[in-house]
Amino acid sequence: MSEEELELESLDGVGPATKQKLTDAGIYSILDLVSRGPSEIADAVNIDLSKAIDLINKARARLVELGRLEKEFVSATELYKKRQAIDRISTGSKNLDDLLGGGIETQAVTEFYGEYGSGKTQVCHTLCVKVQMPKGQGGLNSGAIYVDTENTFRPERIAEIAENYDLEPEDILSKIIVAKAYNSAHQELIVREVGRLVEKEKIKLLVVDSAVAHYRAEFLGRGTLAERQQRLNRFMHNLLRIAEIHNLAVVVTNQVQAAPDVFFGDPSRPTGGHVVAHTSTYRIYLRKAGKNRIARMMDSPYHPEREAVFILDEKGIDDPPEDIPKRK
Ligand code: ATP
Ligand code: MG
Repeated sequence: MSEEELELESLDGVGPATKQKLTDAGIYSILDLVSRGPSEIADAVNIDLSKAIDLINKARARLVELGRLEKEFVSATELYKKRQAIDRISTGSKNLDDLLGGGIETQAVTEFYGEYGSGKTQVCHTLCVKVQMPKGQGGLNSGAIYVDTENTFRPERIAEIAENYDLEPEDILSKIIVAKAYNSAHQELIVREVGRLVEKEKIKLLVVDSAVAHYRAEFLGRGTLAERQQRLNRFMHNLLRIAEIHNLAVVVTNQVQAAPDVFFGDPSRPTGGHVVAHTSTYRIYLRKAGKNRIARMMDSPYHPEREAVFILDEKGIDDPPEDIPKRK
């Protein structure tokens, strides 16, 4: 695809002044334009919502022409074809991969939620290594972007996992771009820049660990709940659009307290509440069970609601030792 076809100024109605305002807001190309919501564009360029929608529609039409986006009305055959372009990244555990239908999907947002120490960050670290492996070995031969909001990204852990897969740690580390997000606005800004990076580097995985922590810390009290949900909603939708446009896998984490009602078959609610839940394509609830970890697939469009057992070890995410011989 040529660069010019994605230039903002190639769109009818975008002159130099509008282009400047869009660029100032971190929107550099038609791809970026489509990955934002109308109200965000309206704010950035200082235009009516209807004009912003018009602009986004023109950008969408261009991407449809270029074969980057689906049309509004598509045949089931076309949808089927698009879904066949979905790639998968192995988590390192066969059990967990089976639960996910073969691994973490591109074109989707996968949310891991659970209490502290349940393994959310470990899943993210392992995926950053696995995505770099060749296709036949569960990877996509591509790099990763890690948005770290809780300061829990550890290069040493990446190096350890890489070594245990007989990979060169330096090599693996060099293909992970880490962005530390200091607050929710910064986190949103970083994700807006992702589009450009993804086009430049070969990236197939975007991690946001955690997606919700900053919002939870910043919006305290009942009065701020609506605004928090609105901001989080916008953020999650941006992630989903990025996943679809760039055919990459987005993984987010969300800490929840283990609630007593877990034992009655209703696992605790994610902190992001319904917003995160409704935007994530797949939601996996993680819990501790002694040395093991149990993952449960929640309300997926087609996965049955069932569970998988995995462990945390020197390879990151792994199968329990007793399950490994069964596969040989
Ligand atoms: P939080 O909500 O606090 O962010 P989390 O779900 O992200 O928690 P993780 O940090 O992924 O939790 O998991 C921490 C656990 O991972 C530790 O308790 C430990 O059991 C395991 N772990 C971490 N590093 C290693 C390692 N090198 N080898 C084996 N297990 C490890
Ligand atoms: Mg964590």
